[in-house]
This record gives sequence, C-alpha cells and structure tokens, in this order.
Amino acid sequence: MRARRAAMPTLAALVVLATACGGATSAAQQQQPPATTPLSPSPRPMLAGKVVAIDPGHNGGNADHPEVINRPVDIITGRKPCNTTGTETAAGYTEHAFTWDVARRLAPILRKMGVEVVLTRPNDTGVGPCITKRAAIGNKAEADAVVSIHADGAAASGHGFHVIMPGLVPGHNDAIIEPSKRLGLAVRDAYTRGTGMPFSTYVGKQALSTRTDLGGLNLSTRPAVFVECGNMGNRGDAAKMSDPAFRQRIAASLAAGLRKYLDGQ
Ligand code: ZN
Repeated sequence: MRARRAAMPTLAALVVLATACGGATSAAQQQQPPATTPLSPSPRPMLAGKVVAIDPGHNGGNADHPEVINRPVDIITGRKPCNTTGTETAAGYTEHAFTWDVARRLAPILRKMGVEVVLTRPNDTGVGPCITKRAAIGNKAEADAVVSIHADGAAASGHGFHVIMPGLVPGHNDAIIEPSKRLGLAVRDAYTRGTGMPFSTYVGKQALSTRTDLGGLNLSTRPAVFVECGNMGNRGDAAKMSDPAFRQRIAASLAAGLRKYLDGQ
C-alpha cells in the first residue's frame, strides 16, 4: 500500500510535466528556423586576431634609479634619456600610477573584444624600460595599434587633453604616418565623447599634435599615438584624473577609439 500510494502522485506529476514540456517545445519549435538551416556558430569576438600594445608611460621605480633612466638612448632625431619620472598632481598623484591604472583598466576591455594585449611593463614598481625597448615591444608583437598613455605637466592655466601623432622621420617611420593619423583621429574623437574632456587649450590644434622628438613614435614600425590624457598641473584636470571612476571612463573611451580604428582596417 505504501509503495502504491507513493507511485500515484509521481505518475500524475509525470503527466503534468509531459504536458508542460510538450507545450514549451511547440512554442520553441515555432521560433526555430527550418531544420534545413544550419545553426550559426557562436560569434567570433569582434576584434579577434588584432594585437594592441599598451604603453603606460614612466614607471614607479624610475625616481629611485636615475643612473638607469638618465642613460641617453638614440631616437634617430637625437638622443634622449632612456626614461623619465613623469609628472604629478599638486596633491602628489603620480603620472606613472595614473598611466598604469588606466592601462590595467583598458587591457581587460580590449581582451573582451578579442584583442591580444601586450603591455610594455608588467607593473608599476619597476624601472624603465627605456623608450627604445618600449617601441621594440610593439614592433616585435606586430601590434595593429600602439597607444602610449601619459598625463601632461604643463602650466596650471592650461587644461584639456591632446593626442600626439608621429611626424615623418624619412626612411624610418614612413609607413606608419597615415595609419597613425587615422588612429589619432579615432582616439581623439572617442576620448572627448567618452570623457567629456575638452581639447587642450595650450597645445596642438583640435587636440592633435605631431612630433618627431618622441622615441616611442620615431622608433615604432606600427601605427602609434601618445595620449596626453589631461594636464596634471591644472587643478580641474588633476581632480578628474585622480578619480578612479573617471579613469574607468578614460579606459572605456580609449578602447572605443581603438575599436573604431581596428574595425576600419
Ligand atoms: Zn609622460
């Protein structure tokens, strides 16, 4: 008796389940494509196969090792220190910490798009590497785009961001001039749209500048730009750059610019 009583509700429940499943299947079948249509494969990440080199300017150990970073290196148009300490806000928020934080926020956004990310330094506690080595890292990775992240240390009266593109160094970076310009435009547009940061009031034209005195641009064989994300010497810009939420917006904006550029390749 006990076994039979237990079996009865189970049987009833099975009937109900079977009915419910049958109904659900019918509804689903109506929405499915005809059996002859092959199922689409899961979509490839939109930027799979692309490589981006992120170069967070300076490094946390630079200030303690002048003997390493002051060593002059050849940047074709002259000689420059291997690396520098960078600037900081009046409150002491350093450029190296800022660039590293933006880089570590940017990398996962790009990876989610399928991009292979290469960083020119693995943390914010090391020394260097020299600008020559940083350029070599992007070149060796055959990066589709290289973005160097910086913050400016200009006079307090100036504010806003700007993007620096490579000027022609004949016989060295001819091939990257045009694509770097496209990269620069895409990054500039996405940056101002995404962060609301105005164009620089003190350098460049429409937040764009071209230079031949930066090792990272002279020595790159891959499309490359520098982004001066704001002026740490300016109170308003410094407040924005010191805010983690704003740095996340910077990272998202840089990713949007890179995506626009890489999509158009
Ligand atoms: Zn810098």
